[in-house]
Amino acid sequence: MLFDKFQSMADFQAELRDRGVAPFGAVTEELLSATEGVVQGKRVILAGTNNYLGLSSDPRCIKAAKDAVERWGTGTTGSRLANGSFVEHQALEDDIAEFYGVENAIVFTTGYSATMGMCATLAGPGDVILLDADSHASIYSGVKQSGAEVIRFKHSNPEDLAKRMRRLGDRAKQTLIIAEGIYSMLGDVAPLRDIAAVKREYGGYLFVDEAHSMGALGETGRGAAQAAGIEEDVDFFVGTFSKSLGAIGGFCVSRHPELQTIRYCISAYIFTASSAPSIIASTREALRIIRTEPELRDKLWHNANLLYDGLQALGLPVGPTASPVVAVEMEDRSATIECWQALMDAGVYVNLVVPPASPSTNFLLRNSVSAAHTSAQIKHIVKAYASLISTGLVNPTKTA
Ligand code: PMP
Repeated sequence: MLFDKFQSMADFQAELRDRGVAPFGAVTEELLSATEGVVQGKRVILAGTNNYLGLSSDPRCIKAAKDAVERWGTGTTGSRLANGSFVEHQALEDDIAEFYGVENAIVFTTGYSATMGMCATLAGPGDVILLDADSHASIYSGVKQSGAEVIRFKHSNPEDLAKRMRRLGDRAKQTLIIAEGIYSMLGDVAPLRDIAAVKREYGGYLFVDEAHSMGALGETGRGAAQAAGIEEDVDFFVGTFSKSLGAIGGFCVSRHPELQTIRYCISAYIFTASSAPSIIASTREALRIIRTEPELRDKLWHNANLLYDGLQALGLPVGPTASPVVAVEMEDRSATIECWQALMDAGVYVNLVVPPASPSTNFLLRNSVSAAHTSAQIKHIVKAYASLISTGLVNPTKTA
């Protein structure tokens, strides 16, 4: 039967239904602020949104979106190659290129299509892609479409990357190396300095997905490569407007002028409608705010440290360093589901992550921190986790 392959997912859905827990696609019924909402009938602190700087509800971004909708209407009804290129789209491309200090930028309708489209197009038959084993689904999807030879290196392991580049001999020069900035599930940062050193030694092109690190890392918020001081080694940056910038959309920037030719070869760019002008306008405003208000990044890291230190002090396994993504790793699926519901009951919404979305066989209670959280809200989140321990739902020594 065509549907046989979905049986394990159907069983999982049935289990959740029987238990009366709905962690996936939980519906937000009301948004009270960037960090509070009514989800499934309950007022909760939002700790699973990727709204790292809280800009989705910034009044300046909202005004920019409103003005654009008045001027341009609700949608473009066409792709960038047809009728969907408005001056706002071009202005955002100019803004992003300038932000990264390069000449070339492409704006996409989603972050997924930016990453997937670039990976699918940059390398082709006869080329080699070396990607981090824990890469995001959009990267895997793109490289699969590319037709290139795809080789995985161990997660954030430059020695393994170097070994595989060495084995490629002359072909190393024609290799696309793919890494992310902050990894979305555990919040760890890629060792980009060492990865760039491998590229310098063996050749190839470096592609970095800064989806979770743009706005969060680097002196001016450009991301993990800026923080590592290796931007010169990066050939292509991609990122999203759906996290720190609080909207939806994606981009690729590059110092290579060829990007302007490649633009016309990317299916995910050509065959989809362009972003609504209101989204482009709020994104431009959010980018301006990121550039001019570095204190937002400081606040984000203050909150990230507060949550990380709090959960670590409880003895929970939270990963090696503080980050805007703080994930608690759990071994047992059933216990993780119970904990997710208990956190909701305690007024905290987090992400429940199950394999293969989590990088190992573990389950995750994934928290994302925002600059818009108050210290009191972060303390409330820590208290909610403490109650998981005091009620015996979690035994810190046995979580993962
Ligand atoms: N790349 C990475 C690393 C991501 O984590 C995500 C989204 N979680 C994307 C790309 C896709 O971005 P978007 O959700 O904005 O389409």
